[in-house]
Amino acid sequence: MATTAYNPFENAQIQFDQVADLLELNSGTRELLRQPMQEIHFTIPVKMDDGTTQVFKAYRIRHNDARGPGKGGIRFHPHETADTVRALSMWMTWKCAVVDIPLGGGKGGVVCDPHHLSLTEQERLCRGYIRQLFTQVGPNLDVPAPDVMTNGQHMLWMLDEYETINNGRFPSMITGKPVGMGGSLGRKEATGYGVVYVLKNLLKELNIPTQETTASIQGFGNVAEYAARMYTELGGKVIAVSCWNQSDNQAYTFKKQAGCDIEQLAQIKDDFGGIDKEKAIDLGYEVLPGEDWLKQEVDILIPAALENQITPAVFPNISEKVKIICEAANGPTTPDCDPLIRERGITLLPDFLCNAGGVTCSYFEQVQCGMNYFWEIEEVFEKLESAMTKAFYAVYELSLEKDLYMRDAAYTIAIQRVAEAVRLRGWA
Ligand code: NAD
Repeated sequence: MATTAYNPFENAQIQFDQVADLLELNSGTRELLRQPMQEIHFTIPVKMDDGTTQVFKAYRIRHNDARGPGKGGIRFHPHETADTVRALSMWMTWKCAVVDIPLGGGKGGVVCDPHHLSLTEQERLCRGYIRQLFTQVGPNLDVPAPDVMTNGQHMLWMLDEYETINNGRFPSMITGKPVGMGGSLGRKEATGYGVVYVLKNLLKELNIPTQETTASIQGFGNVAEYAARMYTELGGKVIAVSCWNQSDNQAYTFKKQAGCDIEQLAQIKDDFGGIDKEKAIDLGYEVLPGEDWLKQEVDILIPAALENQITPAVFPNISEKVKIICEAANGPTTPDCDPLIRERGITLLPDFLCNAGGVTCSYFEQVQCGMNYFWEIEEVFEKLESAMTKAFYAVYELSLEKDLYMRDAAYTIAIQRVAEAVRLRGWA
């Protein structure tokens, strides 16, 4: 899924190594944590609607489960690679640790483009994924969830296959399920809202009123839409949104200087977070090239689509006005760009802190499934905001105390927690 020569797993290892050096981690812990503990690479044969069989390459990778069962989404993407899944599984370990939930890191992926699969083909793919993997996932082992181009329906097909094979009901085996079928209220909003809970705290600390800020967002999928909704609800103005346009296979930036109407954009977006260019033009949006989201004169940039989007090559395009980069996507900034961001005095809210709201709510979902008792939405959001705020302040205060870049502060907390679990288990 990398869009440049950058390899996301190498990026994840570089980030880890920098902080492992600072922490002087012992060599055993270091070797254990800089790679996944388990990798499963497999193929899924799917009978297509036209009677032919197509074979899809798939992965499930567990980076570390010292603090609890593996946890992480399953991504459907034509450019998925083992290294993308490795990186994402590693970031999941840090993400769960930084918000202090008792889960480890895992991730899955299937090399496919669901835009070109019928719903019945997608269902067979989901069931095939679990048929190959059912011994290696489960409530106490490794718990999948949705990610890019997967949703609650995919999760429920997977759960149904798992429960059929295992002859019982095991709702905590997977999260991101539809509400009423073991899903938690607030899960669809959780990642995007969590991003803005963190951003809100930072703005408060920087003495910047949210109502006086503007933002430009890359992506208009699950994370971006709900981040945009919460940010505008707090009075911020989204000037531009960039997303993929399936009909002509390229990205566009949709801009409205007076502020995008997020509800209106949500109504015209497709199931994969794409926006049709013609419909946007009809609604008065200026249509710019996909990468122009980064060039906008705004206070806040919110990359919420893909990894490797903010690189030294594009960094000079970022306006001097930008004060905050709020990483809603996983791995949107390459490690060689971090020093440039820091030098310019931009505050970076690192991905695995910023977008941890999704996994936190997934954890709440597991807790509720365990009790077979589901909370009201207000309770979910209250607990979510409290968890995100606590995690933000732990990272922010450490960054001030030790004069650390926020990414390094978040890594310091996460790595220390995981290393301690490894030590207590007697692994290293
Ligand atoms: P999604 O599939 O719902 O949306 C992806 C969005 O990115 C779409 O709007 C798509 O049009 C856009 N996009 C794709 N290629 C693009 C390009 N070249 N230029 C501009 N836009 C492009 O995915 P999502 O669930 O919103 O995830 C987005 C990011 O957040 C990913 O990095 C994902 O790993 C991360 N994340 C997601 C969750 C979650 O709960 N969904 C949790 C944590 C992190």
